[in-house]
Amino acid sequence: GDDGVPGRVRVAVRLRPRNAEEMVADADFADCVEVQPELKRLKLRKNNWDSDTYEFDEVLTEFASQKRVYEVVAKPVVESVLDGYNGTVMAYGQTGTGKTFTVGHLGDGDTASRGIMVRAMEDILADVAPETDSVSVSYLQLYMEAIQDLLDPTNDNISIVEDPKTGDVSLPGATLLEIRDQQSFVELLSIGEAHRIAANTKLNTESSRSHAILMVHVKRPLIRKSKLVLVDLAGSERVHKSGSEGHMLEEAKSINLSLSALGKCINALAENCAHVPVRDSKLTRLLKDSFGGTARTSLIVTIGPSPRHRGETASTIQFGQRAM
Ligand code: ADP
Ligand code: MG
Repeated sequence: GDDGVPGRVRVAVRLRPRNAEEMVADADFADCVEVQPELKRLKLRKNNWDSDTYEFDEVLTEFASQKRVYEVVAKPVVESVLDGYNGTVMAYGQTGTGKTFTVGHLGDGDTASRGIMVRAMEDILADVAPETDSVSVSYLQLYMEAIQDLLDPTNDNISIVEDPKTGDVSLPGATLLEIRDQQSFVELLSIGEAHRIAANTKLNTESSRSHAILMVHVKRPLIRKSKLVLVDLAGSERVHKSGSEGHMLEEAKSINLSLSALGKCINALAENCAHVPVRDSKLTRLLKDSFGGTARTSLIVTIGPSPRHRGETASTIQFGQRAM
């Protein structure tokens, strides 16, 4: 995607460091990727002597701080939301590669490790005027094409309403809470996370199998009202049909449906198509007014270094590449 051009998607790739298990188990093996951050390039190893090279808007190494990731990936989107335009930041990747760490990490007791949601709200609250402006949030989970309210666990089938004139998307059934200070926002995120864990236990699934969506609505008297949507997507790993059945298979189909619908929309934006096929999934219907047009979108694709996951890493990189 082009720098600073609204309607196009900026794509960054972030490599997470090897974890303790990988340091031991893969000690004799090289990482499956090599990052060249100055060149904004990433090399995916094919074998010992050959690799494929990909270019992104930004390549974030295993040493990139949470602050830097925020500044590169999310801050430009937050700033344009404060100027009255809608915006979206999404994390895409295999489970375990750092999506939640990147987007949702609260960083209790370790402010340096705070993720995008916390940092975005901090910048928003610092910019708005408390007497005249209002900031309010909804926090949702999208699972098997049903939208659940993470701020009210009894509310588990929220519908999407689209204004026929303006095309604006809203969720009238979702809890919308006004945010006045950072501390109450962080508390609200942790309450939402607790509700998410409880809901998923009940549904007999894991958080990695659903999308977590934070919507921040900003209203300022002299500026158009706008919306920032931060999405921690469901794990992109392919679930093998042979190994799963019943509920697991339905779950996998639903994730594939929404992620491939998202991919098609992002590709349509990248190719400047007049038609963006948003109707194919709840995820893309929800995001309809938050990408394309005057909205600004950032996609961060997260990958791990392990040679064992080379195949999944390759498909994550290709998803990101098609978005550009
Ligand atoms: P996902 O949400 O994609 O499944 P997580 O965000 O839960 O992945 O990350 C998996 C584990 O790796 C967590 O323990 C997380 O703290 C750790 N991790 C992820 N990214 C990084 C990073 N850049 N630096 C340090 N630890 C990380
Ligand atoms: Mg996660």
